[in-house]
Amino acid sequence: MSFWKILGRTLRLRCPQCGAGRLFDGWFSMPRQCEACGLKFEREPGYFLGSIYFHDGVTAIIVTVTALTLMMLTDVSERTLLISLGAFCVLFPAWFFRYARGLWMAWDHFADPPQNAKAMPGSAASPSTERTAINR
Ligand SMILES: [Zn+2]
Repeated sequence: MSFWKILGRTLRLRCPQCGAGRLFDGWFSMPRQCEACGLKFEREPGYFLGSIYFHDGVTAIIVTVTALTLMMLTDVSERTLLISLGAFCVLFPAWFFRYARGLWMAWDHFADPPQNAKAMPGSAASPSTERTAINR
């Protein structure tokens, strides 16, 4: 499956494997597994720590670019800049939390697909190929 298809699914907050099940059942809470295909969302303890790379990285890039742009192109006071970007640093991550997890799941699902997704018919890792090799 292509990375863009997986990314599209997770940015719509849907299961990366089937695209049908919802990733969240509340603003911050996720079900253990997909309601449609049974994919276990948290693959191992601490799995979602990787989403912090997206979460904090995107926030830091936006704040840095905005601060530098406003400081160079306008005469906005440092106090106004500090208060407005400080508020952004609190509000944006709360909104972006779910999408950061979606981005992380898309990346992880593409880089290291679950075992049942790897075993597609005709692929090198499929059980039928292994059986053929054993029977020779
Ligand atoms: Zn699913």
